[in-house]
Amino acid sequence: MSLRKKLLAGNWKMHKTAAEGASLAADIAAAIGKETAVDVVLCPPFTALDSVGRALEGQAIKLGAQNLHPEKFGAFTGEVSAEMLRALFVTHVILGHSERRGLFGELDEFINRKVLVALANQLKPILCVGETLAEREAGKTLAVVQQHLEVGLKGVTEEQITTVIVAYEPVWAVGTGKVATPAQAQEVHAFVRGILTQHYGAARAQKVRVIYGGSMKPANAGELLAQPDIDGGLIGGASLEARTFVDLVNAAAAAQ
Ligand code: PEP
Repeated sequence: MSLRKKLLAGNWKMHKTAAEGASLAADIAAAIGKETAVDVVLCPPFTALDSVGRALEGQAIKLGAQNLHPEKFGAFTGEVSAEMLRALFVTHVILGHSERRGLFGELDEFINRKVLVALANQLKPILCVGETLAEREAGKTLAVVQQHLEVGLKGVTEEQITTVIVAYEPVWAVGTGKVATPAQAQEVHAFVRGILTQHYGAARAQKVRVIYGGSMKPANAGELLAQPDIDGGLIGGASLEARTFVDLVNAAAAAQ
Protein backbone atom coordinates (compact mmCIF):
# COMPACT_ATOMS: atom_id res chain seq x y z
CA MET A 1 0.00 0.00 0.00
CA SER A 2 1.56 3.24 -1.12
CA LEU A 3 1.65 6.42 0.94
CA ARG A 4 0.28 8.19 -2.09
CA LYS A 5 -3.17 7.73 -3.57
CA LYS A 6 -2.76 6.96 -7.25
CA LEU A 7 -4.08 9.53 -9.72
CA LEU A 8 -5.34 8.95 -13.25
CA ALA A 9 -5.88 12.02 -15.43
CA GLY A 10 -7.38 11.98 -18.91
CA ASN A 11 -5.97 14.59 -21.28
CA TRP A 12 -8.54 14.84 -24.04
CA LYS A 13 -6.40 17.35 -25.97
CA MET A 14 -8.41 18.92 -28.86
CA HIS A 15 -11.07 16.20 -28.93
CA LYS A 16 -14.77 16.22 -28.02
CA THR A 17 -17.40 18.91 -28.40
CA ALA A 18 -19.27 20.08 -25.31
CA ALA A 19 -22.03 17.49 -25.91
CA GLU A 20 -19.64 14.64 -26.73
CA GLY A 21 -17.56 15.46 -23.66
CA ALA A 22 -20.59 15.43 -21.35
CA SER A 23 -21.61 12.06 -22.70
CA LEU A 24 -18.11 10.56 -22.27
CA ALA A 25 -17.83 11.98 -18.73
CA ALA A 26 -21.26 10.57 -17.82
CA ASP A 27 -20.27 7.12 -19.13
CA ILE A 28 -17.01 7.16 -17.16
CA ALA A 29 -18.76 8.36 -14.00
CA ALA A 30 -21.44 5.68 -14.31
CA ALA A 31 -18.76 2.97 -14.54
CA ILE A 32 -16.57 4.30 -11.75
CA GLY A 33 -19.17 5.19 -9.15
CA LYS A 34 -19.05 7.86 -6.48
CA GLU A 35 -16.21 6.34 -4.46
CA THR A 36 -12.88 5.58 -6.07
CA ALA A 37 -9.74 4.03 -4.64
CA VAL A 38 -7.77 6.39 -6.88
CA ASP A 39 -8.14 10.04 -7.80
CA VAL A 40 -9.58 10.54 -11.28
CA VAL A 41 -9.40 13.81 -13.24
CA LEU A 42 -10.88 14.55 -16.67
CA CYS A 43 -9.29 17.37 -18.68
CA PRO A 44 -11.49 18.31 -21.63
CA PRO A 45 -10.87 21.28 -23.93
CA PHE A 46 -11.94 24.69 -22.53
CA THR A 47 -15.18 24.61 -24.56
CA ALA A 48 -16.32 21.40 -22.83
CA LEU A 49 -15.38 22.33 -19.25
CA ASP A 50 -18.84 23.59 -18.40
CA SER A 51 -20.78 20.62 -19.82
CA VAL A 52 -18.33 18.04 -18.43
CA GLY A 53 -18.42 19.79 -15.04
CA ARG A 54 -22.21 19.48 -15.03
CA ALA A 55 -22.01 15.79 -15.99
CA LEU A 56 -19.64 15.23 -13.05
CA GLU A 57 -21.79 17.00 -10.44
CA GLY A 58 -22.06 14.83 -7.33
CA GLN A 59 -19.42 12.39 -8.62
CA ALA A 60 -15.96 11.70 -7.24
CA ILE A 61 -14.26 12.58 -10.53
CA LYS A 62 -12.50 15.97 -10.67
CA LEU A 63 -12.40 18.48 -13.50
CA GLY A 64 -9.09 19.62 -15.00
CA ALA A 65 -8.09 22.13 -17.67
CA GLN A 66 -5.28 21.70 -20.19
CA ASN A 67 -3.66 25.11 -19.78
CA LEU A 68 -4.08 28.61 -18.36
CA HIS A 69 -2.60 32.06 -18.87
CA PRO A 70 -0.74 33.54 -15.90
CA GLU A 71 -2.29 37.02 -16.12
CA LYS A 72 -5.57 37.75 -14.33
CA PHE A 73 -7.26 39.34 -17.37
CA GLY A 74 -6.44 41.60 -20.30
CA ALA A 75 -5.48 41.70 -23.95
CA PHE A 76 -4.45 38.05 -24.37
CA THR A 77 -6.57 36.88 -27.28
CA GLY A 78 -7.41 33.20 -27.13
CA GLU A 79 -6.27 32.73 -23.55
CA VAL A 80 -8.06 31.77 -20.32
CA SER A 81 -7.20 32.83 -16.75
CA ALA A 82 -7.04 30.80 -13.54
CA GLU A 83 -10.00 32.76 -12.19
CA MET A 84 -12.09 31.80 -15.24
CA LEU A 85 -11.25 28.14 -14.63
CA ARG A 86 -12.13 28.38 -10.96
CA ALA A 87 -15.52 29.84 -11.91
CA LEU A 88 -16.20 26.57 -13.77
CA PHE A 89 -15.21 24.49 -10.69
CA VAL A 90 -11.96 23.31 -12.25
CA THR A 91 -9.62 21.82 -9.62
CA HIS A 92 -6.57 20.70 -11.67
CA VAL A 93 -4.64 22.13 -14.60
CA ILE A 94 -2.10 20.51 -16.92
CA LEU A 95 0.89 22.84 -17.38
CA GLY A 96 3.97 22.55 -19.55
CA HIS A 97 2.64 19.69 -21.67
CA SER A 98 5.16 18.72 -24.36
CA GLU A 99 2.70 19.84 -27.06
CA ARG A 100 2.56 23.30 -25.45
CA ARG A 101 6.36 23.37 -25.22
CA GLY A 102 6.98 21.97 -28.72
CA LEU A 103 4.14 23.42 -30.81
CA PHE A 104 3.52 26.70 -28.98
CA GLY A 105 7.03 27.57 -27.84
CA GLU A 106 6.37 27.59 -24.09
CA LEU A 107 9.52 27.91 -22.01
CA ASP A 108 10.22 26.86 -18.43
CA GLU A 109 10.05 30.43 -17.04
CA PHE A 110 6.60 31.00 -18.53
CA ILE A 111 5.41 27.61 -17.29
CA ASN A 112 6.72 28.51 -13.83
CA ARG A 113 4.56 31.67 -13.81
CA LYS A 114 1.55 29.51 -14.61
CA VAL A 115 2.38 27.04 -11.83
CA LEU A 116 2.56 29.86 -9.27
CA VAL A 117 -0.69 31.43 -10.48
CA ALA A 118 -2.46 28.05 -10.46
CA LEU A 119 -1.40 27.46 -6.85
CA ALA A 120 -2.39 30.98 -5.81
CA ASN A 121 -5.86 30.20 -7.18
CA GLN A 122 -6.20 26.81 -5.46
CA LEU A 123 -5.73 24.90 -8.72
CA LYS A 124 -3.55 21.79 -8.53
CA PRO A 125 -0.92 21.93 -11.27
CA ILE A 126 -0.04 18.79 -13.21
CA LEU A 127 3.45 19.89 -14.26
CA CYS A 128 4.73 17.92 -17.27
CA VAL A 129 8.44 17.25 -17.64
CA GLY A 130 10.31 15.03 -20.06
CA GLU A 131 12.95 14.65 -22.70
CA THR A 132 12.77 14.36 -26.48
CA LEU A 133 14.19 11.33 -28.28
CA ALA A 134 17.26 13.33 -29.34
CA GLU A 135 17.86 14.39 -25.74
CA ARG A 136 17.54 10.79 -24.50
CA GLU A 137 19.93 9.54 -27.17
CA ALA A 138 22.40 12.26 -26.22
CA GLY A 139 22.30 11.08 -22.59
CA LYS A 140 20.58 14.27 -21.44
CA THR A 141 17.36 12.79 -20.01
CA LEU A 142 18.04 13.53 -16.36
CA ALA A 143 19.48 16.99 -17.03
CA VAL A 144 16.41 17.97 -19.06
CA VAL A 145 14.01 16.64 -16.45
CA GLN A 146 15.94 18.45 -13.71
CA GLN A 147 15.73 21.74 -15.58
CA HIS A 148 11.98 21.37 -16.32
CA LEU A 149 11.36 20.53 -12.69
CA GLU A 150 13.59 23.07 -10.95
CA VAL A 151 12.62 26.03 -13.12
CA GLY A 152 8.97 24.95 -13.28
CA LEU A 153 8.76 24.80 -9.48
CA LYS A 154 10.77 27.95 -8.67
CA GLY A 155 9.08 29.79 -5.80
CA VAL A 156 6.74 26.90 -4.92
CA THR A 157 6.69 26.74 -1.12
CA GLU A 158 6.98 23.78 1.23
CA GLU A 159 3.27 24.12 2.00
CA GLN A 160 2.33 24.14 -1.68
CA ILE A 161 4.52 21.34 -3.01
CA THR A 162 2.32 18.46 -1.85
CA THR A 163 -0.57 19.75 -3.99
CA VAL A 164 1.59 19.71 -7.13
CA ILE A 165 1.45 16.64 -9.36
CA VAL A 166 4.49 16.00 -11.55
CA ALA A 167 3.89 14.12 -14.81
CA TYR A 168 6.95 12.49 -16.36
CA GLU A 169 6.15 12.35 -20.04
CA PRO A 170 9.01 11.32 -22.31
CA VAL A 171 8.17 13.25 -25.48
CA TRP A 172 9.07 10.26 -27.68
CA ALA A 173 6.33 8.24 -25.96
CA VAL A 174 3.52 10.82 -26.11
CA GLY A 175 0.97 9.88 -28.76
CA THR A 176 3.45 7.59 -30.53
CA GLY A 177 2.48 4.15 -29.24
CA LYS A 178 6.05 3.77 -27.88
CA VAL A 179 5.91 3.36 -24.14
CA ALA A 180 8.83 3.74 -21.73
CA THR A 181 9.77 0.46 -20.10
CA PRO A 182 8.85 0.23 -16.42
CA ALA A 183 12.58 0.42 -15.59
CA GLN A 184 13.15 3.52 -17.76
CA ALA A 185 10.18 5.27 -16.21
CA GLN A 186 11.02 4.23 -12.64
CA GLU A 187 14.57 5.57 -13.02
CA VAL A 188 13.28 9.03 -13.92
CA HIS A 189 10.48 8.99 -11.34
CA ALA A 190 12.97 8.13 -8.58
CA PHE A 191 15.22 10.91 -9.87
CA VAL A 192 12.31 13.39 -9.71
CA ARG A 193 11.58 12.34 -6.14
CA GLY A 194 15.26 12.76 -5.30
CA ILE A 195 15.20 16.36 -6.56
CA LEU A 196 12.00 17.04 -4.63
CA THR A 197 13.71 15.60 -1.54
CA GLN A 198 16.70 17.95 -1.97
CA HIS A 199 14.44 20.99 -2.22
CA TYR A 200 11.57 20.12 0.11
CA GLY A 201 12.78 17.33 2.40
CA ALA A 202 11.96 13.62 2.35
CA ALA A 203 8.64 13.78 4.20
CA ARG A 204 7.14 16.23 1.71
CA ALA A 205 8.73 14.60 -1.35
CA GLN A 206 7.16 11.29 -0.32
CA LYS A 207 3.72 12.90 -0.54
CA VAL A 208 4.06 14.30 -4.07
CA ARG A 209 2.42 12.26 -6.82
CA VAL A 210 4.72 11.64 -9.80
CA ILE A 211 2.62 10.18 -12.60
CA TYR A 212 3.70 8.71 -15.94
CA GLY A 213 2.40 9.74 -19.36
CA GLY A 214 3.19 8.37 -22.80
CA SER A 215 1.10 5.75 -24.61
CA MET A 216 -0.17 4.20 -21.38
CA LYS A 217 -2.81 1.58 -22.18
CA PRO A 218 -4.57 -1.17 -20.20
CA ALA A 219 -2.06 -3.67 -21.63
CA ASN A 220 1.04 -1.88 -20.30
CA ALA A 221 -0.39 -0.02 -17.28
CA GLY A 222 -0.12 -2.76 -14.66
CA GLU A 223 3.66 -3.06 -14.82
CA LEU A 224 4.21 0.70 -14.93
CA LEU A 225 1.85 1.37 -12.02
CA ALA A 226 3.53 -1.33 -9.94
CA GLN A 227 6.79 0.65 -9.85
CA PRO A 228 7.45 2.21 -6.44
CA ASP A 229 7.67 5.80 -7.66
CA ILE A 230 4.94 5.72 -10.33
CA ASP A 231 1.85 7.17 -8.73
CA GLY A 232 -0.58 7.12 -11.63
CA GLY A 233 -0.91 8.14 -15.23
CA LEU A 234 -1.61 11.06 -17.55
CA ILE A 235 -3.53 9.44 -20.37
CA GLY A 236 -4.02 10.93 -23.83
CA GLY A 237 -5.37 8.64 -26.57
CA ALA A 238 -6.64 5.96 -24.20
CA SER A 239 -8.76 8.49 -22.28
CA LEU A 240 -11.09 9.16 -25.22
CA GLU A 241 -13.06 5.96 -24.90
CA ALA A 242 -14.92 5.20 -21.66
CA ARG A 243 -14.20 1.45 -21.45
CA THR A 244 -10.44 1.85 -21.99
CA PHE A 245 -10.13 4.71 -19.52
CA VAL A 246 -12.16 2.82 -16.90
CA ASP A 247 -9.89 -0.21 -17.41
CA LEU A 248 -6.94 2.07 -16.65
CA VAL A 249 -8.63 3.40 -13.51
CA ASN A 250 -9.17 -0.21 -12.41
CA ALA A 251 -5.52 -1.04 -13.13
CA ALA A 252 -4.46 1.91 -10.96
CA ALA A 253 -6.81 0.80 -8.18
CA ALA A 254 -5.36 -2.73 -8.35
CA ALA A 255 -1.83 -1.31 -8.06
CA GLN A 256 -2.73 0.98 -5.12
C1 PEP B 1 -0.57 13.03 -23.15
O1 PEP B 1 -1.08 13.69 -24.02
O2 PEP B 1 -0.29 13.57 -22.08
C2 PEP B 1 -0.31 11.61 -23.41
C3 PEP B 1 0.34 10.91 -22.52
O3 PEP B 1 -0.77 11.11 -24.61
P1 PEP B 1 -0.81 9.54 -25.04
O4 PEP B 1 -1.36 8.78 -23.88
O5 PEP B 1 -1.73 9.51 -26.22
O6 PEP B 1 0.59 9.16 -25.36
